[in-house]
Formats: sequence, structure tokens, C-alpha cells
Amino acid sequence: LTVLGLESSCDDTAAAVVRQRAGGRPEILSSIVAGQTELHAAFGGVVPEIAARAHVEKLDLCVEAALSEAGLRLSAIDAVAVTAGPGLIGGLLAGVMMAKGIAAGAGLPLVGVNHLAGHALTPRLTDGLAFPYLVLLVSGGHCQFLMARGVEDFTRLGGTIDDAPGEAFDKTARILGLPQPGGPSVEAAARAGDPRRFALPRPLLDRPGCDLSFSGLKTALLRERDRLMEAQGGLTEQDRADLCASFQAAVTEVLAEKSRRALALYMAEAPAEPAFAVAGGVAANATIRAALEAVAAEAGARFLAPPLSLCTDNAAMIAWAGLERFRLGRRDDMTLSARPRWPLDAASPAMLGGGK
Ligand code: ATP
Ligand code: FE
Repeated sequence: LTVLGLESSCDDTAAAVVRQRAGGRPEILSSIVAGQTELHAAFGGVVPEIAARAHVEKLDLCVEAALSEAGLRLSAIDAVAVTAGPGLIGGLLAGVMMAKGIAAGAGLPLVGVNHLAGHALTPRLTDGLAFPYLVLLVSGGHCQFLMARGVEDFTRLGGTIDDAPGEAFDKTARILGLPQPGGPSVEAAARAGDPRRFALPRPLLDRPGCDLSFSGLKTALLRERDRLMEAQGGLTEQDRADLCASFQAAVTEVLAEKSRRALALYMAEAPAEPAFAVAGGVAANATIRAALEAVAAEAGARFLAPPLSLCTDNAAMIAWAGLERFRLGRRDDMTLSARPRWPLDAASPAMLGGGK
């Protein structure tokens, strides 16, 4: 099976071709990602209207590039997969319209994909991971522990009750005047910093369960910054590095401890080949990865983290999730609609109905 995937749910326009031959491993034949960081730089965040317009402009170029890099024509494609949600409505609509156009024009089946399923199924694309596995989805808009039992069968063990860690990294960068996206710049600054200099809170750590919270962390950071500004009239490079390192240490500790608890719940089901995977943009963070790897080892589970290019938004994961759904016989028709909100857990029957 060969599937063309389209992704446009946030600020990355992406197209990719993924193939899996019968009995073979999945192959990423091409993965094109056109970012929009420069377009939004002046606004300190993603502007939905600008994002939607850019997706409209870039989608067909990305599709063309994905096909030509794969060395394939549309006639060699078996299905078109597209992110139908969750995300920004304008971008989702642009992607869904484009996918419908391609599917109708080339007479191909259409498969709507949940963006979060794309992230959560990535370890199956990269490592052929078997169900059930535990996955921590940690990105710009989400943070949740999911028990992945099947392509369309996810149980949520807990998640953030306010901000997502990626968002917290981005806000931290904004507070300290570092460039967006904040994850990579805060991580880089933290390398020269002392993670113990500022005692930032570890929200919800004292409470049982797998829920997390990150908004208090940002407030505490803001307070430390203002205190320094008042005392010294500004921030030194070292202050910035120490604030970044202290922030990163707090996020890491909270994620590690909650992962320990989620792993305990997962291991209680005695999976045959226990595995803990991390997915989403924040999984690119080396300190967080290392801490989660240690937690997995402690619990006796294999640890998986995708390569950086598959952590942040991409269309290979969408093509793959589409391929997995397609293989199960799932199809969507021209009534497929964009769903800005689309939770990925057992409580949501939506996973079974594609984009509806
Ligand atoms: P979602 O998948 O929840 O809809 P999204 O698509 O915006 O959100 P991703 O593209 O998966 O999120 O991840 C982007 C986020 O990851 C940003 O908030 C960015 O700051 C964060 N991020 C990227 N690299 C790093 C890093 N090295 N350390 C920490 N955070 C990072
Ligand atoms: Fe994402």
C-alpha cells in the first residue's frame, strides 16, 4: 500500500508518501514540510488567518514535491490521507479541500486522520511497535498519556489540565526574549544554565494520578524574571540560561514522575512486550528524552522516541495513520469535514467515523 498524506492543522504545511509492502517494513518515500515560522514571527504566536492563507498557497507545491521526491505519479497512490482535526479550522479546511480534490480528480479513496493519532502511531511507523503500548503525547497543544491498544483504540490515562508543555516552552521564550518556537531556543539556552538556581513549582506532583499542569510554572517564571529586573534593571545571559535550565528541570521532573505512574498502570496489564513511546514536538528535547528513557528502564519497558523530524508536525505520520486506517477498511467520502476539536480516546466514538 502506498498512501499520500497531507497535514495543515497548525503552522506547518506538509505532504508525504509512505509505503508498506505486504510483509515489509513501512518506508517513508518522501516527507516535505514547509514551515511558517517567519510569517508569524512578528506576532509572537501563530495567527490563524495567516496560517490558513499560507496553507492554501503551499499545499499543492508540497504535494507535487512529495510525489516527485518519491518518484511516483498519482496513479501509483492507493489512498489520500488528510488531517481532519484537531487544529485550526482554516488550515484543516484547506487540507481537507485539497485532499478531496486530489481524491476526486484521481479517483482515489479518501481517509481522514486524527492529528493526535498521527503522533501516537508514529512508533509503529518507525519501529513497527506492537499494541498495546503506552505513549506520552507531548506537543505544542497537547499533553496526554494514552494506552494505545489498536489503530483506533486509545485510552487516556491522564493529561494536562491547562497548558501543554510546548506552549509553556514557547511562553518561557517570550518572557525571556528568546526566539520562537521556544522549545529549541529554551533548550539551547538551558545548556549553559544552573537548573537549581530557581526553585520553580512542580505542579500537581503531590497529587495522585496522571494529570499534569504547567500554567503555574509560567507564572512563577514571570515572577522570577520581574524580581531580577527590579533588582538589577535587566537580565544577564547567565540569568536567562539559569531560568531556562530551572524551567526545563521542572517540566522534566513533572513529566518523569507522571510517566512513572502511567507506566505502573500500563505494566499492571502485563503487556507481552512492554513499551513506552514519546511523541510530539517536545519529545525533541534531549533532557526530557533522557529522563523518560530512565523511567522506562526502571519499569522494565522498552523506550522509543522518534527522530526529531518525526516529533514535530509532518505528513509522514498522517500518511502512516491513514495507511493503518485504510488497511482496516476505513474510508471517508466527500462529506469528510474538518473538526477543530477531536479528542483521541475511548470516550470518543469519533475515531470510528473518520472525520465525521
Ligand atoms: P499539537 O500536535 O498538539 O496540535 P503542534 O502541532 O503545534 O501541537 P508540535 O509540532 O508537535 O505541536 O510541536 C511543537 C511544539 O514543540 C512547540 O511548542 C515547540 O516549542 C515544542 N518543541 C520543539 N522542539 C522542542 C525542544 N527541543 N524542547 C522542547 N520543546 C520543543
Ligand atoms: Fe502536532
